[in-house]
Amino acid sequence: MKVAVPKEVFEEETRVALTPTLAETLRKQGHEVLVESGAGALAWFGDDLYRQAGATVVEDPFELYRSAEVVFKINPPQTHPRLGRHEAELLPEGTTLIGFLMPLENSEAVEKLAARRITSFAMEYIPRITRAQSMDALSSMATVAGYKAALIAAGHLKKFFPLLMTAAGTIPPATVLVLGAGVAGLQAVATAKRLGARVEAFDPRPAVKEQVESLGASFVPMEISEDVETAGGYAREQSEDFLRREQETIAARLPKVDVVITTAQVFGRKAPVLITEEMVRQMRPGSVIVDLAVRQGGNCALSRPRETVERFGVTIVGAWNLAAGLPVHASQMYGRNVLNLFLHLYSKSSREPDFSDEIARSCCVTHAGRIVLAAARKEP
Ligand code: NAD
Repeated sequence: MKVAVPKEVFEEETRVALTPTLAETLRKQGHEVLVESGAGALAWFGDDLYRQAGATVVEDPFELYRSAEVVFKINPPQTHPRLGRHEAELLPEGTTLIGFLMPLENSEAVEKLAARRITSFAMEYIPRITRAQSMDALSSMATVAGYKAALIAAGHLKKFFPLLMTAAGTIPPATVLVLGAGVAGLQAVATAKRLGARVEAFDPRPAVKEQVESLGASFVPMEISEDVETAGGYAREQSEDFLRREQETIAARLPKVDVVITTAQVFGRKAPVLITEEMVRQMRPGSVIVDLAVRQGGNCALSRPRETVERFGVTIVGAWNLAAGLPVHASQMYGRNVLNLFLHLYSKSSREPDFSDEIARSCCVTHAGRIVLAAARKEP
């Protein structure tokens, strides 16, 4: 099939949906790869590397889209700032689109995809089952974000992370609190530990305590009396009473920590507010909060999307698209996930995905002119 990789037009995006090495893998599987000129430039994958991998580099994005049977993207389709046309309308009718589609936030784009009979697959709806792990881009990008969050925190903190015993005296380690210890949180814990900080973490899912402790961090104790985990391994939305008790537990820790990294999310819902304005006031001046949930509303009441603000002497980073801060490996990991999904959906013998398969069914958003993802369909 003809697989096209456009240059991402989302603001400040640096990643590309397929690296040259993966383009070569696709080609060896019998597919043709077309890449928009400059698509990988911000991740140091120049046009020449794609050409050497056997891909065709296309200057004109109109031509790229026109030639495509399948398009690999990272961000949801949006109006192309230079062409003035919506990316969904550049896709030829009946083609396939694979990317993070955020269908709940982008209903207009989803309707356009359905109207053009595009078969679209959203990476964030890949089921979290063992055989789909190699396609799980949410986990890959959360790994990058968690790592980057710890580095950003260390960069803003005006102190060392590690314990230092020097001729000029002994410096105690910084204390880092990680709230939400899923994929991103555990990576933040591991990275802060590697930098030498004293790390503690909290997550309402009971299984997480052992994972946190296995990384050498301590788990913040809190009595949990409600069922907080879904069958799929995600956190459920918690009750107001639970969140109030959690805020009290965190409030008791905050005056003693230097850094808080928050990653708490409940899939498909607004992120829970774990740190109120009053709680920020109680923190030591010079402390740092990095809020990874800011796109979902934020875990800290004072965080602002894409902005770094200082409130009551505390630096609060509204972390946005952290994966774009590590474009080489983020592109490599994302590209591998997309490639694996594509090869799973379209075998050598079939150009039609098998919708009896759980993976294809779970992440398909539009097909044959209809919105098929239940969560994205507007109730009448
Ligand atoms: P996520 O991004 O949806 O949420 C991040 C974390 O926030 C989760 O650990 C969640 O429990 C936590 N959280 C929710 N409410 C909170 C609150 N009030 N306070 C503190 N923390 C709160 O989750 P994720 O990182 O994508 O992963 C969730 C789970 O799924 C993890 O156990 C992960 O290991 C598992 N997972 C399984 C697979 C697989 O089996 N293939 C793949 C990826 C992840």
